[in-house]
Amino acid sequence: MTIDQYNFNGKKAIVRVDFNVPLDENGNITDDTRIRGALPTLKKILADGGSLIIMSHMGKPKGKVNPKMSLSQIKDAVAKALGTEVEFAEDCAKAADKAAALKPGQVLLLENLRFHPEEEGKPVGIDKEDPAYDAAKKEMKERQKEFAKTLASYADVYVNDAFGTAHRRHASTAVIADYFDADHKMLGYLMEKEVKAVDNILKDIKRPFTAIMGGSKVSTKIGIIENLMDKVDNLILCGGMTYTFAAAQGGKVGKSICETDKFDLALDIIKKAKEKGVNLVLGVDCVAADDFSNDANTMVVSCKEIPDEWEGLDAGPETRKIFADAIKDAKTILWNGPAGVFEFDNFTAGSRAIADAVVEATEKGAFSLVGGGDSVACINKFGLADKVSYVSTGGGALLEAIEGKVLPGIAAIRGDK
Ligand code: AMP
Repeated sequence: MTIDQYNFNGKKAIVRVDFNVPLDENGNITDDTRIRGALPTLKKILADGGSLIIMSHMGKPKGKVNPKMSLSQIKDAVAKALGTEVEFAEDCAKAADKAAALKPGQVLLLENLRFHPEEEGKPVGIDKEDPAYDAAKKEMKERQKEFAKTLASYADVYVNDAFGTAHRRHASTAVIADYFDADHKMLGYLMEKEVKAVDNILKDIKRPFTAIMGGSKVSTKIGIIENLMDKVDNLILCGGMTYTFAAAQGGKVGKSICETDKFDLALDIIKKAKEKGVNLVLGVDCVAADDFSNDANTMVVSCKEIPDEWEGLDAGPETRKIFADAIKDAKTILWNGPAGVFEFDNFTAGSRAIADAVVEATEKGAFSLVGGGDSVACINKFGLADKVSYVSTGGGALLEAIEGKVLPGIAAIRGDK
């Protein structure tokens, strides 16, 4: 079932959203992107004449009630965004009466799901090494099913619009789907958009396809790099990874971030790229600094000849040109991870050159997906988020999807377990 096919008139819908918004010390929302992201789904349900039960997690309360992570803090913001009053249920597992009392057009927000350990389904207070761990885990999985069943009992239909947690098999993101038949469970609009964006990258590829992987370490990106190797025409590896590759090839990288235990891996990636005919693009020069700070002294130097006390913090001018050339004429682009320490204004040039080239390609008709952790902060810093095709809301979920893994939150609805 798709959300557009379903008429919510007179129905109660329980919707899993990702309202894990950042709050300041007074509990005020500092960025409401996630609330705005879920509005199309929530508004469609209300406009059809349905009633809404909204559920989410916030932070990591580890199965215990923690007022600092209470969703009551965002109740008014949700009401304002929806333009209607919102009722609040202090315990998400004891909301049956409030849910039953909902009339068409009314909204109930449930308290943080993760105040209950059953949401994540991991046993608490017991070490993985403990001989009793397996039994505790089994028991918790049973409790998780009961918890999911309780949530499911509140509604006629289940909608999952929380892409950020789609890679987790939690009660509200996946297990709950077992209590609805195929005609009464569906992805929300945000999820549909995310899934389509990932499909554009992994299935409906227009060539040439350029992937840009940056960030700090090779080790955290290896699964993705391997999966992309079979799909891309150009693979740009940048950011901190640059120096592991330079050192693995015998270069001097000074104090640059460098994973000395990943040299074999780096050389293997270079070899595989050759075998598969992938144009692997690595930085040639860098902006090196004599300190890890915005005000450090800098010099432009080869990535393989960095003096002892210096560290590469950004892509150099020659590298920026090479990167831009591999991006400008692409028809499919994936960008994950900055090309330098973009948090420091003096080390943004590499990431900026990538962003500009991605925008240029997008203007010429390419599909560009930016996502996964810091790349979103980076594109926002440059004010270019609305000039690329899609900026993903998922961090870990997006990365796992690109690795080619099946996301439990999506599989639970589509039935492709
Ligand atoms: P990741 O979470 O792996 O995507 O890494 C993102 C982080 O990598 C950002 O905070 C960047 O500041 C950092 N980063 C990028 N390039 C470098 C570099 N050359 N040296 C140290 N950190 C870097």
